Amino acid sequence: MTMNQQWRLARLPVEGWPTDGDFVLGRTELSEPAENQALTKTTYLSLDPYQWGRRRSGVEEIGDVCHGRTVSQVVKSRHAGYKEGDVIFNTNGWQTYGLVGEDISEFGYMHPRVLDTSQAPASTALGVLGMLGLTAYSGLYVQCQPKPGETVVVSAASGGVGQNVVQIAKLKGCRVVGIVGSDDKCDFVVDSLGAQACINRKAPDFIEQLREACPDGIDIYFENVGGEVFEAVLPLLNSRARISLCGLISQYGNDDAASNHARWQKTGASVFEKRQVQVNGLFVGNFVEDYQSQFLEEMSAWVRDGLVHYKEDIWHGLERAPEAFDAMLKGGNFGKTLVQVSDAPAA
Ligand code: NDP
Repeated sequence: MTMNQQWRLARLPVEGWPTDGDFVLGRTELSEPAENQALTKTTYLSLDPYQWGRRRSGVEEIGDVCHGRTVSQVVKSRHAGYKEGDVIFNTNGWQTYGLVGEDISEFGYMHPRVLDTSQAPASTALGVLGMLGLTAYSGLYVQCQPKPGETVVVSAASGGVGQNVVQIAKLKGCRVVGIVGSDDKCDFVVDSLGAQACINRKAPDFIEQLREACPDGIDIYFENVGGEVFEAVLPLLNSRARISLCGLISQYGNDDAASNHARWQKTGASVFEKRQVQVNGLFVGNFVEDYQSQFLEEMSAWVRDGLVHYKEDIWHGLERAPEAFDAMLKGGNFGKTLVQVSDAPAA
């Protein structure tokens, strides 16, 4: 009998970062698809920072299969929209099999769809041609409207979102400076993504290096991390600079409200007001209706023409999902974090 292997939430992690006891691996008997459903086998599982937010805020409950977007392959179908062998984008979560169909209602704006793997590798639906690419496109291109010659600074610049921001900014003729957490990542951001400079946030003279790399100040800041990196960027912002506030990952396990408040008050108000800085909160879901088609058309062409590259950090085996998730949240990933759960479908 085929069994479904699943990671379930074992405790409600209301504070801090993930710990060993958060997830439990189990097996259940495989469900047969009902009418208007298809059974799918997970190929790639996407690990994303927002999953920790769901767990911390109680959207996921103890015993739930952990949520996660996936690429999977249809193994049995009773749904007119899917046939056996189709490779699809869906939301199986942290498990080896999942059902897809009209009565599976979790998907929100991320509707399941059949992928054309002759155009791009299936995994790109979870990265450069998926939510992460659209996040970069929406925050940089739509919100901040970069102009040639402007200085764009991107934090977590080698990560799933950041690598796309760097390359779109380059395509728009900007001068790009990345911020990352290791020298290897710096080399990648400059040599492979084409940034003019990249600074290791852990270097003892990080603040001076950043200032030197931005001699004309910063016109656009794409914020992925918050905390000390944000504080180093703020004094360098030019008048009428634009910020896309995409994420604050350094704070996702920080429950010290007093220190968080102090940080915002110290750094935010004076800089934003005096220099008329435009701060744009970013939620990718708000851009799907108006920009997803335009994004997919442009980004697919850039990828196909070799103008945009993508780096994936692939962990093998579902059992490694918690380890990979923890590493990603703490900067141990190098590129978009994926778990390969079963063999990739042939292109
Ligand atoms: P990444 O692939 O960029 O991985 C996370 C990266 O964050 C790490 O590799 C690390 O990069 C950096 N990081 C981790 N801890 C710290 C820290 N303490 N200080 C500074 N940097 C740290 O993840 P994603 O591309 O998936 O997500 C990037 C950001 O985008 C996240 O904040 C996420 O929440 C946000 N996001 C927002 C969306 C929206 O709609 N607004 C949609 C999707 C993502 P390094 O070591 O190189 O610094």
